[in-house]
Amino acid sequence: MPGVLLWRVTGTLGEKTLLSLSGEFNESTRVEELCKIKGPLVVDLGGVNRINSTGVRALLTWLEGASRNGTVEAERCSHAIVSQLNMLPELARLVTVTSFLAPMECPKCFQEQEVLVRIPPDRHPRFPEERCGRCDEEMRLSEPRERYLAFLNDEC
Ligand SMILES: [Zn+2]
Repeated sequence: MPGVLLWRVTGTLGEKTLLSLSGEFNESTRVEELCKIKGPLVVDLGGVNRINSTGVRALLTWLEGASRNGTVEAERCSHAIVSQLNMLPELARLVTVTSFLAPMECPKCFQEQEVLVRIPPDRHPRFPEERCGRCDEEMRLSEPRERYLAFLNDEC
């Protein structure tokens, strides 16, 4: 059974509505209710763990509508979201990504950990120094950096 998409309004920041999403975008995802939440939005996407090819259409439909009501800031973008941002420039154009969860890996014992990376105005994120909790080795991004950050070069 396909997983569900959950969302919750977590507060407001000035005129912005803070929204938190988790779960999956797939063939069972309906965004009609989500579309009723008027922007500008700040969306926490850290919990979105899967997006398939049908689900990405629902994601685009929602964001096309939402971005008409004001800016959509995407924070804590998960691995699933970053993958789509890198594949779909039209998606990257609908949102302003302010931070993402970087999949880090220990080069020695392969321990994995997600680290929050903020995107500064110059769009050159600096990765925080993160040590492996098991063997104290310095963690590194588990994906090729250029490719993982390709969406940052794509914005108009
Ligand atoms: Zn380690």
